[in-house]
Amino acid sequence: SMLLYMPVQGTQELKKIAHAVNHLSGLLAEQERWRQILMEDLGHELRTPLSIVGSQLEALVDGVFDLEPERLRTMLDDIARLTRLVQDMEKILQADGAIFELMPEEMDLVPLLKQVLYLLQPVFEDKSIQVTLITPKKPCPVLIDVDKMIQVFVNLLSNAAKYSEPNGNVSVITELDRSGETIFVHIQDNGIGIPPNELDKIFERFYRVDKSRSRDTGGSGLGLTIAKRLVEAHKGSISVMSQEGVGSKFTVTLPLVRI
Ligand code: ADP
Repeated sequence: SMLLYMPVQGTQELKKIAHAVNHLSGLLAEQERWRQILMEDLGHELRTPLSIVGSQLEALVDGVFDLEPERLRTMLDDIARLTRLVQDMEKILQADGAIFELMPEEMDLVPLLKQVLYLLQPVFEDKSIQVTLITPKKPCPVLIDVDKMIQVFVNLLSNAAKYSEPNGNVSVITELDRSGETIFVHIQDNGIGIPPNELDKIFERFYRVDKSRSRDTGGSGLGLTIAKRLVEAHKGSISVMSQEGVGSKFTVTLPLVRI
């Protein structure tokens, strides 16, 4: 029976290994595709402002128009936008690579949220935004890469500040589901909101609702993309509900560690 049994077990082991290899190569292929799309998008995003600045500089050199401060200001704005884009790009490449090297620790989510609110205190104070944190009485143990999860909540909360009027309200509400399997973190603002037809696009790379309204808020449209990818790497998800002129609610869902 040993002789009969051994090969079967060997085959099963091989099958398992083959399955794992398949799975890994699928992941790598997906990462490769994602990088490729990212580079194409980046090229596209960089080309327009670069050619605008380039042709304006050329016109200046050729003496077509004078050195008006207003024109220089526009160019500086474009260059600042390019710089932010490149910085965000570095961040997203880090986040992307890190999906395969998360360093998860078991910890309570509430102290992490408090830490993020503390970090962002100057941002909220700047606009006199009132922040409320509501937490459950029960513990909220999660398995997370602390730095990555801080980045997720920093992105969501700085958006809440960015897209709110001064004196607004931002709430962070944590909620456990009945079964104790999942934690929801709602980040709610009473800011400008998002039009319904834009809601499914805001998680796309470089997507910004109505460039004119977003222009002065100094973003690049990568914050939510990074947040979504990081949460998904933790086997969680992000969703959004919003009403124009009323406010937005972003919900991060994460699996709880069983205790
Ligand atoms: P950005 O760098 O433009 O802030 P994000 O990826 O973080 O990029 O967000 C994408 C777009 O979604 C923003 O440009 C903005 O129009 C919209 N958005 C994100 N968060 C909010 C919010 N809390 N309230 C209203 N609009 C938001």
